Amino acid sequence: MTQHSSNISVTPSCRYASEAGRGWPVGVTPAPGELLSSWLHRLALANGVPPRYFGRVLGLSGADWSERLDRALPKHVLDSLVDRAEVPAAEISGLALGPDPLTRLRLRLKIKPQKIPTSAPRITRLQYCPTCLMEDQAPYFRRGWTLATRVSCLHHGRRLRDRCPHCSGGIAPSRQDQLLPQHICVWCGCDLRKRTVRVAHDVQQLERLIEDLLRLHVAGYSLPEKSTLPALLSTACFTFGTEHKSIAQLPLRDRHHLFCQLAEGSMRNHLRPDHRATAFWMRLAQVAPKHTGLTKTLSKMLIIRTTARRDIRTVGISLTNLTQAITRIHTNHRTSMTKEKCR
Ligand SMILES: [Zn+2]
Ligand SMILES: [Zn+2]
Repeated sequence: MTQHSSNISVTPSCRYASEAGRGWPVGVTPAPGELLSSWLHRLALANGVPPRYFGRVLGLSGADWSERLDRALPKHVLDSLVDRAEVPAAEISGLALGPDPLTRLRLRLKIKPQKIPTSAPRITRLQYCPTCLMEDQAPYFRRGWTLATRVSCLHHGRRLRDRCPHCSGGIAPSRQDQLLPQHICVWCGCDLRKRTVRVAHDVQQLERLIEDLLRLHVAGYSLPEKSTLPALLSTACFTFGTEHKSIAQLPLRDRHHLFCQLAEGSMRNHLRPDHRATAFWMRLAQVAPKHTGLTKTLSKMLIIRTTARRDIRTVGISLTNLTQAITRIHTNHRTSMTKEKCR
């Protein structure tokens, strides 16, 4: 707009769409190991839309729109995201959980209806490590935290949380209706990053062993028996009070308690040892203290192989060894020739 004495002339600028195309104004790069819903919430916030309303931008309804996408990402939504967020399809698909070889071990979502009284407990099954969120430049939720076999952070060795430390509300970043980052509780507005205590060493060992076995399963290694590792781990039934639940149905508090008892070897009264799946859990707990970790074991094997190869090369270039070997071959050859003649 320009002004010349009493005359005002208005010059329309270019339309935003013709300047920026269909893409959203701000791009957000997915963080390592990030969960799809977490990236979508960060994308929404960066573009000035509270996560609660961003589902509508993608043509989705319901408060838990992003949690549903984690488990099943429809083709038309993926195409729309590729088009507007300008991130490759393979990278976006990699953030989602499905198709998922570990589906049976993912925590089941348990979201209460939106119209609940504010004093009622709100339950979701999203868990997180407060210390990880504290260290993030832009706090984000990890895919690994959706596994029921995780009760602590493998990086910090501290317990995970699945509730706000201030109001005990469930973790539900998709319901955020303000422009606030994901480490802020959607129910009370407090910071979720209150540090947790360290878990016992034995519990960490058991978790590490299960994590390593699951990695082998995802990489294609299968058990000699017919059943798969996730099937064995998920079909075991644990008794808490009068309830019998699988690992994926238990809240974090009960799973942590279960891991502590398994590590101490005091779960016998709560398990049916005749059942193959529960016996498998007990076997894991027994061998866990001796487990040194897949990475350590593999590196050790690599070092041994490399050293062995180096030894072979050293023997090969020794002139003395070479001449002795030739003499031995020559002698053996003559002996066998003599034997042939004697027959
Ligand atoms: Zn952590
Ligand atoms: Zn809260």
